[in-house]
Amino acid sequence: MSDPSKNIATNLKALRTNLGWSLDKTAAATGVSKAMLGKLERGESSPTISTLWKIADGLNVSFSTFIKDQTPAAESELQLTEQDLQVDTLFPFEQETGFEMYRLCMQPNYERLAPPHQPGVIEHLVMMSGEIEVLVDGDWQQLSAGDKLRFAADKPHGYRNQSDSAAVYHVMIHYTQAKV
Ligand code: MN
Repeated sequence: MSDPSKNIATNLKALRTNLGWSLDKTAAATGVSKAMLGKLERGESSPTISTLWKIADGLNVSFSTFIKDQTPAAESELQLTEQDLQVDTLFPFEQETGFEMYRLCMQPNYERLAPPHQPGVIEHLVMMSGEIEVLVDGDWQQLSAGDKLRFAADKPHGYRNQSDSAAVYHVMIHYTQAKV
């Protein structure tokens, strides 16, 4: 298993350098502090999934840009883990397809309200097991195994598990504008 914080450090630094952006400009665009960005680039800190999304959206790039491992055959092993949420990369973003795909395992009582992603982002969720609720246009919609949901994610949205067992779903995130 590759170390996600090492990939994040390498990829964030490379991306920011390519853009020619200062830490100040990057902080303003992402809403993540300059101090935190510096720590991430030096590999001194592991970002939360929420922070990583802020950076991806602010730089107008895919989420998987940061967790990509440059070594061949490592893609399927990319994983981010927080206390109540595990994210496994099934397919990282590719320019040709414009999407990335993840498997998420969400523990009971997890709830996350997500700010809008970059313009044109569409999420496609397919429930594999358990139950979650997804906030779309102000309504929490319940999903059980086999259910699917497609929604415009360039608006505020959210995810929660109010059941008493873990839930697993796949999400395909389609970008119409991200370049990397
Ligand atoms: Mn989202």
